[in-house]
Amino acid sequence: MEIIKDINGIREKINEARKAGKRIGFVPTMGYLHQGHLSLVEIAKKETDYQVMSIFVNKMQFNDKNDYKNYPREYERDFAMAEKAGVDLMFTPDDEIMYINPLTYVDMDSLTEHLCGAHREGHFRGVFTVVSKLFNIVQPDVSVFGQKDIQQAIGIEKMVFDLNFPVKIIIAPIMREKEGLAMSSRNKHLSEEQIADALYIYKSLQKAEVMIESGETESGKITFAMRKKIQQGKPDRIDYVSVVDYKTLQPVRKIGEKNVIAVAAYFGTTRLIDNMIVEKKEKGYLCTY
Ligand code: AMP
Repeated sequence: MEIIKDINGIREKINEARKAGKRIGFVPTMGYLHQGHLSLVEIAKKETDYQVMSIFVNKMQFNDKNDYKNYPREYERDFAMAEKAGVDLMFTPDDEIMYINPLTYVDMDSLTEHLCGAHREGHFRGVFTVVSKLFNIVQPDVSVFGQKDIQQAIGIEKMVFDLNFPVKIIIAPIMREKEGLAMSSRNKHLSEEQIADALYIYKSLQKAEVMIESGETESGKITFAMRKKIQQGKPDRIDYVSVVDYKTLQPVRKIGEKNVIAVAAYFGTTRLIDNMIVEKKEKGYLCTY
Protein backbone atom coordinates (compact mmCIF):
# COMPACT_ATOMS: atom_id res chain seq x y z
CA MET A 1 0.00 0.00 0.00
CA GLU A 2 1.30 3.43 -0.88
CA ILE A 3 0.66 6.31 1.47
CA ILE A 4 0.53 9.72 -0.15
CA LYS A 5 -0.24 13.13 1.30
CA ASP A 6 -0.29 15.41 -1.70
CA ILE A 7 -2.93 15.76 -4.40
CA ASN A 8 -0.64 15.54 -7.43
CA GLY A 9 0.94 12.37 -6.07
CA ILE A 10 -2.48 10.78 -5.67
CA ARG A 11 -3.53 11.83 -9.17
CA GLU A 12 -0.40 10.31 -10.67
CA LYS A 13 -0.97 6.96 -8.97
CA ILE A 14 -4.60 6.87 -9.98
CA ASN A 15 -3.79 7.76 -13.59
CA GLU A 16 -1.35 4.86 -13.68
CA ALA A 17 -4.01 2.47 -12.35
CA ARG A 18 -6.50 3.75 -14.90
CA LYS A 19 -4.03 3.37 -17.75
CA ALA A 20 -3.60 -0.25 -16.66
CA GLY A 21 -7.35 -0.62 -17.20
CA LYS A 22 -8.29 -0.70 -13.52
CA ARG A 23 -11.55 0.57 -12.07
CA ILE A 24 -11.17 2.71 -8.98
CA GLY A 25 -12.94 2.04 -5.68
CA PHE A 26 -12.91 4.70 -2.99
CA VAL A 27 -13.68 4.70 0.74
CA PRO A 28 -13.37 8.08 2.47
CA THR A 29 -12.89 7.92 6.26
CA MET A 30 -11.76 9.96 9.22
CA GLY A 31 -9.58 7.11 10.44
CA TYR A 32 -9.33 5.18 13.69
CA LEU A 33 -10.44 2.29 11.54
CA HIS A 34 -12.68 -0.54 12.64
CA GLN A 35 -14.38 -3.46 10.92
CA GLY A 36 -17.13 -1.11 9.66
CA HIS A 37 -14.61 0.84 7.56
CA LEU A 38 -12.96 -2.36 6.32
CA SER A 39 -16.31 -3.82 5.27
CA LEU A 40 -16.69 -0.86 2.89
CA VAL A 41 -13.39 -1.78 1.23
CA GLU A 42 -14.60 -5.38 0.91
CA ILE A 43 -17.68 -4.16 -0.94
CA ALA A 44 -15.68 -1.80 -3.19
CA LYS A 45 -13.39 -4.71 -4.12
CA LYS A 46 -16.31 -6.65 -5.55
CA GLU A 47 -16.84 -3.98 -8.22
CA THR A 48 -13.42 -2.43 -8.74
CA ASP A 49 -9.75 -3.40 -9.10
CA TYR A 50 -7.85 -0.65 -7.31
CA GLN A 51 -8.78 0.48 -3.81
CA VAL A 52 -8.23 4.00 -2.55
CA MET A 53 -8.94 5.04 1.02
CA SER A 54 -8.63 8.49 2.51
CA ILE A 55 -8.09 9.36 6.14
CA PHE A 56 -8.80 12.99 6.84
CA VAL A 57 -10.29 14.38 10.04
CA ASN A 58 -12.24 17.12 8.34
CA LYS A 59 -12.34 20.13 10.63
CA MET A 60 -15.01 21.76 8.46
CA GLN A 61 -17.63 19.19 9.47
CA PHE A 62 -17.09 19.45 13.23
CA ASN A 63 -19.50 21.78 14.99
CA ASP A 64 -17.88 20.96 18.34
CA LYS A 65 -14.25 22.01 18.82
CA ASN A 66 -13.60 19.43 21.54
CA ASP A 67 -15.03 16.63 19.42
CA TYR A 68 -12.53 17.60 16.71
CA LYS A 69 -9.63 17.91 19.13
CA ASN A 70 -10.39 14.60 20.83
CA TYR A 71 -11.23 12.64 17.68
CA PRO A 72 -9.05 9.50 17.91
CA ARG A 73 -6.08 9.47 15.54
CA GLU A 74 -3.75 6.49 15.21
CA TYR A 75 -2.32 6.47 11.74
CA GLU A 76 0.19 3.62 11.98
CA ARG A 77 -2.46 1.26 13.30
CA ASP A 78 -4.85 2.40 10.55
CA PHE A 79 -2.27 1.89 7.81
CA ALA A 80 -1.62 -1.69 8.92
CA MET A 81 -5.35 -2.46 8.99
CA ALA A 82 -6.02 -0.84 5.62
CA GLU A 83 -3.13 -2.65 3.96
CA LYS A 84 -4.33 -5.98 5.30
CA ALA A 85 -7.82 -5.22 4.00
CA GLY A 86 -6.41 -4.75 0.50
CA VAL A 87 -6.23 -0.96 0.16
CA ASP A 88 -3.79 -0.07 -2.64
CA LEU A 89 -3.48 3.65 -2.10
CA MET A 90 -3.94 5.66 1.08
CA PHE A 91 -4.58 9.41 0.84
CA THR A 92 -3.77 11.30 4.05
CA PRO A 93 -3.84 15.00 3.27
CA ASP A 94 -3.55 17.58 6.03
CA ASP A 95 -5.56 20.75 6.51
CA GLU A 96 -3.11 22.89 4.56
CA ILE A 97 -3.42 20.64 1.52
CA MET A 98 -7.21 20.40 1.58
CA TYR A 99 -8.12 23.97 2.46
CA ILE A 100 -6.33 26.98 1.06
CA ASN A 101 -8.56 29.94 1.96
CA PRO A 102 -11.68 28.28 0.52
CA LEU A 103 -14.61 30.42 -0.61
CA THR A 104 -16.65 27.65 -2.20
CA TYR A 105 -18.87 25.14 -0.41
CA VAL A 106 -21.35 22.40 -1.23
CA ASP A 107 -24.55 22.64 0.75
CA MET A 108 -27.97 21.02 0.54
CA ASP A 109 -31.50 22.16 1.19
CA SER A 110 -34.32 20.21 2.82
CA LEU A 111 -32.51 16.88 3.14
CA THR A 112 -30.40 18.24 5.99
CA GLU A 113 -33.21 20.03 7.83
CA HIS A 114 -33.88 17.21 10.28
CA LEU A 115 -31.99 14.47 12.18
CA CYS A 116 -28.29 15.36 12.57
CA GLY A 117 -28.67 18.38 10.31
CA ALA A 118 -30.90 20.01 12.92
CA HIS A 119 -28.43 19.39 15.73
CA ARG A 120 -25.03 19.92 14.10
CA GLU A 121 -24.83 23.37 12.56
CA GLY A 122 -22.72 23.36 9.39
CA HIS A 123 -21.89 19.65 9.68
CA PHE A 124 -23.30 18.54 6.34
CA ARG A 125 -21.90 21.52 4.49
CA GLY A 126 -18.50 20.34 5.71
CA VAL A 127 -19.22 16.74 4.71
CA PHE A 128 -20.52 17.51 1.21
CA THR A 129 -17.73 19.98 0.55
CA VAL A 130 -14.96 17.57 1.53
CA VAL A 131 -16.53 14.60 -0.28
CA SER A 132 -16.87 16.73 -3.45
CA LYS A 133 -13.21 17.64 -3.20
CA LEU A 134 -12.21 14.02 -2.59
CA PHE A 135 -14.30 12.87 -5.56
CA ASN A 136 -12.61 15.46 -7.76
CA ILE A 137 -9.17 14.39 -6.55
CA VAL A 138 -9.69 10.60 -6.71
CA GLN A 139 -12.32 10.43 -9.48
CA PRO A 140 -13.50 7.00 -8.38
CA ASP A 141 -15.81 4.71 -10.35
CA VAL A 142 -17.42 3.44 -7.16
CA SER A 143 -17.51 4.91 -3.66
CA VAL A 144 -18.93 3.13 -0.61
CA PHE A 145 -20.60 4.79 2.39
CA GLY A 146 -22.09 3.25 5.52
CA GLN A 147 -25.77 3.06 6.41
CA LYS A 148 -24.52 3.91 9.91
CA ASP A 149 -24.44 7.58 8.81
CA ILE A 150 -27.66 7.33 6.86
CA GLN A 151 -28.33 11.05 6.38
CA GLN A 152 -24.80 11.45 5.05
CA ALA A 153 -25.15 8.46 2.69
CA ILE A 154 -28.52 9.55 1.29
CA GLY A 155 -27.21 13.13 1.03
CA ILE A 156 -24.18 12.01 -0.94
CA GLU A 157 -26.37 10.01 -3.33
CA LYS A 158 -28.41 13.16 -3.89
CA MET A 159 -25.33 15.36 -4.28
CA VAL A 160 -23.88 12.96 -6.87
CA PHE A 161 -27.18 13.06 -8.76
CA ASP A 162 -27.63 16.84 -8.53
CA LEU A 163 -24.03 17.71 -9.46
CA ASN A 164 -23.50 14.89 -12.00
CA PHE A 165 -20.49 13.29 -10.36
CA PRO A 166 -19.63 10.24 -12.51
CA VAL A 167 -19.45 7.85 -9.58
CA LYS A 168 -21.63 4.99 -8.38
CA ILE A 169 -22.53 5.22 -4.69
CA ILE A 170 -23.10 2.07 -2.65
CA ILE A 171 -24.65 2.15 0.82
CA ALA A 172 -23.20 -0.62 3.01
CA PRO A 173 -24.74 -2.40 6.04
CA ILE A 174 -24.00 -1.33 9.61
CA MET A 175 -21.27 -3.35 11.31
CA ARG A 176 -21.90 -3.95 14.99
CA GLU A 177 -20.06 -5.18 18.05
CA LYS A 178 -21.10 -8.64 19.27
CA GLU A 179 -23.85 -7.33 21.53
CA GLY A 180 -25.18 -4.93 18.92
CA LEU A 181 -23.57 -1.54 19.51
CA ALA A 182 -22.86 0.05 16.11
CA MET A 183 -19.11 0.26 15.52
CA SER A 184 -17.82 3.81 15.63
CA SER A 185 -14.44 5.48 16.11
CA ARG A 186 -16.09 7.46 18.92
CA ASN A 187 -16.80 4.25 20.90
CA LYS A 188 -13.18 4.57 22.05
CA HIS A 189 -14.31 7.36 24.37
CA LEU A 190 -16.88 5.13 26.15
CA SER A 191 -16.23 3.44 29.50
CA GLU A 192 -17.28 -0.20 30.01
CA GLU A 193 -20.37 1.03 31.80
CA GLN A 194 -21.24 3.48 29.05
CA ILE A 195 -20.85 0.74 26.44
CA ALA A 196 -23.41 -1.34 28.32
CA ASP A 197 -25.70 1.70 28.60
CA ALA A 198 -25.31 2.64 24.94
CA LEU A 199 -26.58 -0.81 23.99
CA TYR A 200 -30.04 0.52 24.76
CA ILE A 201 -29.89 2.40 21.47
CA TYR A 202 -29.69 -0.95 19.66
CA LYS A 203 -32.36 -2.37 21.93
CA SER A 204 -34.62 0.56 21.03
CA LEU A 205 -34.30 -0.37 17.35
CA GLN A 206 -35.14 -3.98 18.21
CA LYS A 207 -38.16 -2.72 20.12
CA ALA A 208 -39.28 -0.69 17.09
CA GLU A 209 -38.91 -3.76 14.88
CA VAL A 210 -41.07 -5.86 17.20
CA MET A 211 -43.75 -3.14 17.27
CA ILE A 212 -43.74 -2.80 13.48
CA GLU A 213 -43.91 -6.56 13.04
CA SER A 214 -46.96 -6.63 15.26
CA GLY A 215 -48.70 -4.02 13.12
CA GLU A 216 -47.85 -0.68 14.76
CA THR A 217 -47.36 2.07 12.18
CA GLU A 218 -47.76 5.28 14.21
CA SER A 219 -44.46 7.11 14.46
CA GLY A 220 -45.42 8.74 17.76
CA LYS A 221 -46.06 5.43 19.46
CA ILE A 222 -42.90 3.85 18.06
CA THR A 223 -40.62 6.74 19.05
CA PHE A 224 -42.23 6.99 22.51
CA ALA A 225 -41.44 3.33 23.19
CA MET A 226 -37.92 3.74 21.78
CA ARG A 227 -37.23 6.73 24.01
CA LYS A 228 -38.40 4.76 27.03
CA LYS A 229 -36.02 1.97 26.08
CA ILE A 230 -33.07 4.35 25.56
CA GLN A 231 -33.79 5.99 28.93
CA GLN A 232 -33.04 2.64 30.58
CA GLY A 233 -29.42 3.25 29.55
CA LYS A 234 -29.40 6.63 31.34
CA PRO A 235 -28.20 8.70 28.36
CA ASP A 236 -26.98 12.19 29.19
CA ARG A 237 -29.14 13.55 26.39
CA ILE A 238 -31.26 12.28 23.53
CA ASP A 239 -30.89 14.53 20.47
CA TYR A 240 -33.63 12.83 18.48
CA VAL A 241 -35.59 9.65 17.89
CA SER A 242 -37.32 10.14 14.54
CA VAL A 243 -39.23 8.36 11.84
CA VAL A 244 -38.58 10.00 8.47
CA ASP A 245 -39.27 9.29 4.82
CA TYR A 246 -36.31 7.49 3.21
CA LYS A 247 -36.10 9.80 0.22
CA THR A 248 -36.83 13.22 1.69
CA LEU A 249 -35.73 12.62 5.30
CA GLN A 250 -38.79 14.58 6.42
CA PRO A 251 -40.68 13.34 9.50
CA VAL A 252 -43.72 11.16 8.85
CA ARG A 253 -46.68 10.40 11.12
CA LYS A 254 -47.00 6.83 9.92
CA ILE A 255 -44.70 4.17 8.56
CA GLY A 256 -45.08 4.10 4.75
CA GLU A 257 -43.32 2.48 1.78
CA LYS A 258 -39.75 3.16 2.91
CA ASN A 259 -38.64 4.93 6.04
CA VAL A 260 -35.67 5.52 8.29
CA ILE A 261 -35.94 5.34 12.05
CA ALA A 262 -32.95 7.20 13.43
CA VAL A 263 -31.52 7.91 16.87
CA ALA A 264 -28.85 10.22 18.25
CA ALA A 265 -27.98 10.26 21.95
CA TYR A 266 -25.15 11.28 24.23
CA PHE A 267 -23.48 8.96 26.71
CA GLY A 268 -21.21 11.23 28.70
CA THR A 269 -19.87 13.67 26.11
CA THR A 270 -19.90 11.04 23.35
CA ARG A 271 -22.60 11.43 20.74
CA LEU A 272 -23.75 8.16 19.19
CA ILE A 273 -26.04 7.60 16.22
CA ASP A 274 -27.82 4.56 14.88
CA ASN A 275 -30.71 3.76 12.57
CA MET A 276 -32.91 1.23 10.88
CA ILE A 277 -34.37 1.18 7.36
CA VAL A 278 -37.98 0.01 7.22
CA GLU A 279 -39.32 -1.18 3.87
CA LYS A 280 -42.82 -2.32 3.08
CA LYS A 281 -42.86 -5.77 1.49
CA GLU A 282 -45.67 -7.93 0.13
CA LYS A 283 -46.14 -9.38 3.58
CA GLY A 284 -45.27 -6.91 6.36
CA TYR A 285 -42.11 -4.88 6.69
CA LEU A 286 -38.40 -5.54 6.35
CA CYS A 287 -36.27 -3.82 9.01
CA THR A 288 -32.56 -3.48 8.21
CA TYR A 289 -30.20 -2.37 10.96
P1 AMP B 1 -16.02 7.89 9.51
O1 AMP B 1 -14.59 7.51 9.56
O2 AMP B 1 -16.74 7.73 10.80
O3 AMP B 1 -16.24 9.23 8.85
O4 AMP B 1 -16.71 6.84 8.56
C1 AMP B 1 -16.24 6.57 7.27
C2 AMP B 1 -17.23 5.69 6.55
O5 AMP B 1 -17.41 4.48 7.29
C3 AMP B 1 -18.62 6.31 6.43
O6 AMP B 1 -19.17 5.99 5.15
C4 AMP B 1 -19.38 5.66 7.53
O7 AMP B 1 -20.78 5.61 7.32
C5 AMP B 1 -18.78 4.27 7.51
N1 AMP B 1 -19.00 3.60 8.80
C6 AMP B 1 -18.79 4.10 10.03
N2 AMP B 1 -19.16 3.23 10.98
C7 AMP B 1 -19.64 2.14 10.32
C8 AMP B 1 -20.19 0.89 10.74
N3 AMP B 1 -20.35 0.57 12.02
N4 AMP B 1 -20.58 0.01 9.78
C9 AMP B 1 -20.44 0.32 8.46
N5 AMP B 1 -19.93 1.47 8.00
C10 AMP B 1 -19.54 2.37 8.92
